[in-house]
Amino acid sequence: MSVRQKIKIIGGGFAGVKCALTLRKKLKREEADIILYNSENYLVFQPLLAEVVGASISPEPVAVPLRQMLPGIYCRTEEISKINVEYNYVEYLDDRGRKGQMSYDHLVIACGSSVNLGQIPGMADHAFPLKTVGDAVALRYHVMQQMENAEIAEDIYRRRWHLSFVIVGGGFSGVEVAGEINDLVRSTRKFYRNIRKEEIKVTLIHSRDQLLPEVSSKLRDFTRKKMEHAGINVVLNRRVSHVTQVGVSFDDGVTIDGATIVCTVGNATAPVIQRLDAPKERGRLLTDPDMRVQGHQNVWAVGDCALINNSYDNTQSPPTGQFAERQGRQTALNIARVINGKETKPFYFRPLGQLCAIGGHNAVAEFLGFHISGFLAWFLWRSVYLFKLPSFSHQLKVGFDWAWEIFYSRDLAHPKANVTDRVGKSHFQPGDYVFREGDPSNNFYIIESGEVEVVKNADKKDEKVLAILGAGDFFGEMALLDHRSRTSAIRARTELEVTVMGKKIFEQISSVLTPFKDFLADAVKRRSGSMWQKLPVVYEILQNQPLSVFIQPVDGTLSTNDTFETAVRELCTKELEFCCVTDGSNKIKGILTQTDIFRAVELSVALNTRVSDFMTPSPIVVTETDLSTIVAATMRDHDLKWVPVVDNLDNLYVKGFIRRDKMITFVLDKFHEHHEETQVS
Ligand SMILES: Cc1cc2nc3c(=O)[nH]c(=O)nc-3n(C[C@H](O)[C@H](O)[C@H](O)COP(=O)(O)OP(=O)(O)OC[C@H]3O[C@@H](n4cnc5c(N)ncnc54)[C@H](O)[C@@H]3O)c2cc1C
Repeated sequence: MSVRQKIKIIGGGFAGVKCALTLRKKLKREEADIILYNSENYLVFQPLLAEVVGASISPEPVAVPLRQMLPGIYCRTEEISKINVEYNYVEYLDDRGRKGQMSYDHLVIACGSSVNLGQIPGMADHAFPLKTVGDAVALRYHVMQQMENAEIAEDIYRRRWHLSFVIVGGGFSGVEVAGEINDLVRSTRKFYRNIRKEEIKVTLIHSRDQLLPEVSSKLRDFTRKKMEHAGINVVLNRRVSHVTQVGVSFDDGVTIDGATIVCTVGNATAPVIQRLDAPKERGRLLTDPDMRVQGHQNVWAVGDCALINNSYDNTQSPPTGQFAERQGRQTALNIARVINGKETKPFYFRPLGQLCAIGGHNAVAEFLGFHISGFLAWFLWRSVYLFKLPSFSHQLKVGFDWAWEIFYSRDLAHPKANVTDRVGKSHFQPGDYVFREGDPSNNFYIIESGEVEVVKNADKKDEKVLAILGAGDFFGEMALLDHRSRTSAIRARTELEVTVMGKKIFEQISSVLTPFKDFLADAVKRRSGSMWQKLPVVYEILQNQPLSVFIQPVDGTLSTNDTFETAVRELCTKELEFCCVTDGSNKIKGILTQTDIFRAVELSVALNTRVSDFMTPSPIVVTETDLSTIVAATMRDHDLKWVPVVDNLDNLYVKGFIRRDKMITFVLDKFHEHHEETQVS
């Protein structure tokens, strides 16, 4: 072997991390360059998430930083969007939202599974998942908030609703989180004056006849009895049919109300695997016995995202952390074998056992053939997970939290993770960029005052201004709706004030408010694709015409100090469509149209009201030096019949105006001339 091998790992969970560590041990740096991609810059220690919910430990220790854990591995916090197994490369979006590619000699897919709450109607809207550190923190805050709400609720039914917690799914995570929530709310009740013990209700719902299908029947019985003894209402053999804001319902119409619903069922395939054309069963990648994805020599799959046969007992590996780690390790050994020209080995693992905490300092454990339950199992559970934490500092933090809990009660305070409201205002100076081509799309903008230009290839030789937008216009919607990066830049032409709406708020409003949705759809239709692509002849004609060809003097001008009466006389007697409103020095301040007059009449303004009080201020204007094509595009984009022309955007002295029909007539005449010339020749 001579060439340095490029090994890429997608996923920094149990499987990916173990694989990376083992590869680094087995292959020298000059033999292999190892890159690990993960969506976050830390490994989530999922088995301890329920403890975060129950305030037994703080959130920090369950997020283990990858860079510190993986010396010698190049870690990239990046979401892989596509895998191309034909040409051996992965695709990602870089920090600016642009596509990037990296090739590989060996690829390890270890992206775990994602959550799909969409299988049960209403679940996605009203239930909490438990997969990430953020999920655990949000749930813990919500639980504590329900205690606070119950304390001040005057209505008894409302108080009970706040104190009712429903957990759907009786597997490991459901049982653990039900136990933790039960412990948290019951142990902290003493600090609340108005909450009575019998008002607290924690319900665990499972679709089968026993909890924890992974452990022996004796331990399952023990689990149910202990949980019921601790006050948990265990509902077996029932499937939730839908979820509302009030609670969960079953097929027969029976409901269980609760302000907190936690969903621990509904695993889904990670999006990058959904897009991969490879054999799968129930969304998990099918592998050969040595963990290569079926049909591929250099693509491997491990952990929850893969369906791997365990040659120890010829059964399919379950989606657990224990198996994920072993698969990661053995895949690394197999890759090293391939690189060194040796035979690979099938996955072989004798499971050590199962451990599950069930609340109230109780756990169930099957360990090397022994069955243990109660406090001893709980102690074992804590010891195992403490030593499984990948760094000493994290072990220390968790150990300290657990010791603290023995002497003091759980912490009730939970700082709100609210972020500042994302609707804000921004100011830009002329020439500033609001965003550039290729930037990621985060915001939607509404212009309050000033003008911007939409620019392609900004600051380059072939820079092209596509359109001008003014007060009341909006931009940024196309990239947000299509989930892509910006396709053109927005540059301030004048001093600019914009209202900025964050992506989430924009998405929420545009998905529920039908008029806004329709309005956006119209704008997208109008704005998508360059109008000149459809009208190349018109572009050619206009491109060669200076704007001066179309400028005509304004018919009527009013001053900001003129009165409503003067304005009516000016517009009506001269039968004008509009008047420019200027200050004493001919600087444009606004525009007055017939519509403004009618609106003022409707508002019953007095005859001596000043024009500045009912004109349209800061209208869109173009300058003498603008290109005819840009002016035409701007008028089309805003459906303008005319637009004022000023000397420049600093002075804003009125030089005349341009009528749309005059431009159209000019283009038609030129078109005919051109047509006749070609026929004669
Ligand atoms: C609440 C809870 C409790 C659990 N308790 C236990 C327990 O007690 N015992 C046990 O053995 N197991 C337990 N499990 C299961 C165990 O955590 C999983 O089986 C294990 O984490 C799987 O490891 P993995 O490496 O396959 O995936 P994960 O640990 O899920 O890691 C996958 C990583 O890949 C990243 N990723 C995904 N897609 C991309 C992409 N396109 N680009 C870049 N990165 C990507 C993700 O961000 C994630 O960091 C529990 C799980 C949960 C949710």
